Amino acid sequence: MLRIAIQSKGRLNEESLSLLQDIGIEVDAPKRKLLSKSQTFPLEALYLRDDDIPHVVAGGTATLGIVGLNELEERGADVDILARLGFGACRLSLAVPKGEDYEGPAWFSGRRIATSYPNILRKYLDDKGIDAKIEVITGSVEIGPAIGIADAIFDIVSSGSTLIANGLKEVETVFESEAVLIARKNLDAEERTLIDDLLFRIESETVSRGKKYLLMNIPKASLDEAIRILPAMRSPTVMPLASPDWCSLHSVVNTADLWTKVRQLKAIGAEGILVMDVDKIIL
Ligand code: ATP
Ligand code: MG
Repeated sequence: MLRIAIQSKGRLNEESLSLLQDIGIEVDAPKRKLLSKSQTFPLEALYLRDDDIPHVVAGGTATLGIVGLNELEERGADVDILARLGFGACRLSLAVPKGEDYEGPAWFSGRRIATSYPNILRKYLDDKGIDAKIEVITGSVEIGPAIGIADAIFDIVSSGSTLIANGLKEVETVFESEAVLIARKNLDAEERTLIDDLLFRIESETVSRGKKYLLMNIPKASLDEAIRILPAMRSPTVMPLASPDWCSLHSVVNTADLWTKVRQLKAIGAEGILVMDVDKIIL
């Protein structure tokens, strides 16, 4: 039986649970229960604050955990990172009041920086040889400069709108983060087998996210060109059509490239282009 530590509420909770659900593991959402056993996989979820997840896994109370890489790096727990999960993307950045003349990290020398991530910040400053004072605060870091407890901040940024709303500008990105699956060290054979199964499912799920299935009719004369536009996992599927000069072409593309590819395919004569969601890709 595996036990996985998941954030009980907050930014990672919903996506952690939906990832489990998408790989066929149903667990009850955290209401008043701290532990919830799955009926569909030998696993139970343990709901915690994200701050506690790295140590609960390192200490062995949970076998696995889903946590932001930022939290893991800050807390320095001795665990293995098994997979990057592709959600909870954010960065830890330094930001200064927007009117400041900022020309480089030397600006921070002798200044006070408010943060909830003192360890990551200390390492960055030491690497750059900057002597700044770190003011640790646990929440609402972004108001630090306005209320006079700091000259700058070091905090989580995703869209940057919180910074702008507080009259700050992002000047250095220090750490890129996303949610990761972590595991305790020294797993036994049964745990390893179950985790291999989980990782296989997670990989299929994360590979299929951000992909679209494309099918279209294409004049045979343009087929070689179309195959160059659409390199598929092995190669695109080509099927005959009743009309001898045409065929049907099927492939998978990254969502980010979809519109560029569609435009290129249209330009060489593709018609009736269908774009569909991909549920799972098993490599
Ligand atoms: P908890 O009550 O569990 O301690 P928290 O307030 O510390 O929650 P959240 O704000 O829920 O934490 O964020 C959890 C994680 O989500 C962050 O550590 C980070 O990895 C990730 N994250 C992604 N985008 C953002 C964002 N825009 N702001 C904050 N966290 C983000
Ligand atoms: Mg927290």
